[in-house]
Amino acid sequence: MVAKPLLARVALVDQVTALLTQRILDRAYAPGDRLNIDALTREFEVSSSPIREALTRLAALGLVASTSFSGFSVAPEPPRAWFEQLRDFRILNESWAARQLARTRQAGPIAAMRASVEAMEQELSRSAESDCDYVGASRLDEAFHGAMLSACGNEILARAVRNLHPHLHHARLFNSRPHGIKPVLDEHGAILEAIVRGDEDAAAAAVAHHLNISWQRYCDDASLQPVGVAATAASPPRRAAPAPASRRAAASPS
Ligand SMILES: [Zn+2]
Repeated sequence: MVAKPLLARVALVDQVTALLTQRILDRAYAPGDRLNIDALTREFEVSSSPIREALTRLAALGLVASTSFSGFSVAPEPPRAWFEQLRDFRILNESWAARQLARTRQAGPIAAMRASVEAMEQELSRSAESDCDYVGASRLDEAFHGAMLSACGNEILARAVRNLHPHLHHARLFNSRPHGIKPVLDEHGAILEAIVRGDEDAAAAAVAHHLNISWQRYCDDASLQPVGVAATAASPPRRAAPAPASRRAAASPS
């Protein structure tokens, strides 16, 4: 009797959070748009509590800004420099994580990474390459990287990467643009292959290559030129398939 209303309320907050997230990713709400609690309460026909709680969650993710004077609004998109710093931070940490997993070769995380690759293959076979569900592909990509980070043996490092919500912010920036997942599928395959055969150097290089070239694809797609490519990942990994030149315009998860 006590748990039921609580579960219902939690589910309601989850639903409101998911709906608002989707609207921000789809740009139905533009950066800077005010998110009026009273208006949302009327539209969703719920009390103000789940709306306020959902907005607070989104503020923690960096999708919503909150001030004591003007209330909630859609947060501005992070600048290009932030994404490039994020790329470099991920290269440093995730290359190290890949190296650890290539040494330990834990079955569970490797199976989770393989499941992500296989799900992406299925998504690719279902959809035209340029018409994949970006947010869905981004979730599969997040699962791949998350499994690798979870196995690195350093929870502080893993949490530091996760707490930046890189996939969410990339999805926000690139959700509305044409994209494909074939290049990222090849790059994930190269990472996984290196880990499975226990090649630490190749695994670290494959991760660095993937994160670097993903950002280059984003910049190509957005007609932005990257400020710089991380020096730690200048060399492509052994046995990693390069992205075909014809696919250069396709943004993809990383
Ligand atoms: Zn990736």
